[in-house]
Amino acid sequence: MKLSNRIEGLTGGGSDGWDIYRKSRAMVADGLDVVELTIGEHDRRTEPEILEAMHASALGGHTGYAALPGTDSLRDTVAARVAARTGVPTTRDNVVIVPGGQAGLFAAHVAACDPGDTALFIDPYYATYPGTIRGTGAIAKPVRADADRGFQPAEADLAKAAPGARSLLINSPNNPTGVVYTRDTFDGIARVAEAHELWLISDEVYDTQIWSGTHLSPRQLPGMENRTLVIGSLSKSHAMTGSRLGWIVGPEDAIDHLINLTTHTTYGVPGFVQDAGDFALKQGQGLEDRIAAPFRRRHADAMRRLLAGGVDVVPSTASMYLMADIRPTGLTGEAFAHRLLDTHQIAVMPGESFGTAAAGHVRIALTVADARLHTALDTLIAFTGQLTEHAA
Ligand code: PMP
Repeated sequence: MKLSNRIEGLTGGGSDGWDIYRKSRAMVADGLDVVELTIGEHDRRTEPEILEAMHASALGGHTGYAALPGTDSLRDTVAARVAARTGVPTTRDNVVIVPGGQAGLFAAHVAACDPGDTALFIDPYYATYPGTIRGTGAIAKPVRADADRGFQPAEADLAKAAPGARSLLINSPNNPTGVVYTRDTFDGIARVAEAHELWLISDEVYDTQIWSGTHLSPRQLPGMENRTLVIGSLSKSHAMTGSRLGWIVGPEDAIDHLINLTTHTTYGVPGFVQDAGDFALKQGQGLEDRIAAPFRRRHADAMRRLLAGGVDVVPSTASMYLMADIRPTGLTGEAFAHRLLDTHQIAVMPGESFGTAAAGHVRIALTVADARLHTALDTLIAFTGQLTEHAA
């Protein structure tokens, strides 16, 4: 039976960018000891006290249908956190709870775009972005942010792509590059969004993983509050990837419609998961810092180690990832990653999994214990050195 073009077109017919990940998972299932530096999954599980809060909530009876917009308490907590971090007055009416940032990205595009509308996003991008946009029936149009500009999108490029578009999706701190947008970049984005009447969809799921400087949300820029939908999630900030808990923050009328959408899609998020998330957020910055600490440490260590070993690294100040520039080896990121996995059982993500702008790079997720990471990086350095010598 023929399925819809929409679902068959999710991956655009080609690779969906997850080939290396699937291959390394299959190798692990076969009993091989692969160092997996692929996806953004912490090497620690959710904190026991968060799970205890979840347990208590479930035993206390919060197992029926939960309030569709999210519980009042969690929406208040999210609103207070956003207001404190951005200075933008925010109440529960600006918040809808969704089952994870990914669901939020999909819902935000449903809210912003009609089928056939153009939705802009920045290349390099988190691998699901184009499929998420296509899944809503919109047309996914990339705008390149090049390595030689430090992967900061240029206002001129955005302005060129914007006429006729309905939305622009950005992600700072950025996956895959670890780059945080500068104030100049944000100002350019805001000018283009205003001039072309775009919805700005701001994916801020890495807002607790900034290693120098502070997080800026474009919703706090003048004139942007009424055209910005912010995507947040507890996956990265609280090591709660499996709990599937996130939110969208935006103007009240947009949130009303998004709540209506949840009635017709997810029908809410389990109450005991929301209560656990509420508890987690109420622990404040101390817990967030504790969960971010290994990545802060490994990011600095890995950057130093790779640079000392002669591997070029994209300058970055955030996230659980680093991008290595492996162009001197003469290989594509994809060929490099396959070879590294086949010969040394180390899995990294090819830059090509994230679009065209990060070609010739590989993304290293800093998601294994320090000693294991160091050994893997030393192997990667030696491997890169040999290939580079061979290419010279
Ligand atoms: N946005 C970005 C940039 C991500 O890297 C991820 C997960 N890796 C997500 C959104 C989705 O996260 P979740 O659905 O777990 O909240």
